[in-house]
Amino acid sequence: MNQWSNCELCDLCGTRSNVVGYTGGFPSDLLFIGDAPTAGDNIIGEAFAGPPRKELNRWVELARSYTKHEEVKVAFTYLVGCIPLVDGERKVATLKQVAACRERLGAVLAICQPRGVILVGDASKPRLKPIYSGPMIHVKHPSSIRGLNSSKKALEVLRIITEIKQLMEEVL
Ligand code: SF4
Repeated sequence: MNQWSNCELCDLCGTRSNVVGYTGGFPSDLLFIGDAPTAGDNIIGEAFAGPPRKELNRWVELARSYTKHEEVKVAFTYLVGCIPLVDGERKVATLKQVAACRERLGAVLAICQPRGVILVGDASKPRLKPIYSGPMIHVKHPSSIRGLNSSKKALEVLRIITEIKQLMEEVL
């Protein structure tokens, strides 16, 4: 993915420290795709760095434990490779920026060859359709359920794990 490190195809080249390609092995069974890098991702150049990736991996492991599969390979990326910052505040990537970054995401999909995609967060869902039409589910971002009370959080995580398990059974 080094060819994108100096990309200037959209205005986000002016706000980033690093272009985030993808994180994880390839080919991957499942590819998580979020909207855009966070401040932490931007600094270290990895997708879903820190607690979010840990939680997504935990969900996958829990879902896997209810299947016959011994291992499920996952990878992580975003619709855009650069953080959308306006006056120092992270925003949702615009359709224009997503369109500009389509080639990079297409390259990630070609490398990872995922059997299924898991869209993460509310912003990503309508934007991926023109690029990927394979098996796909949509889950909430781990940070968006962190503030729920424990019973609501447990229910939400159970729902997410069930959907990931169903996706695994469909594609693996
Ligand atoms: S978001 Fe994508 S298209 Fe825009 S500058 Fe970054 S790598 Fe290039």
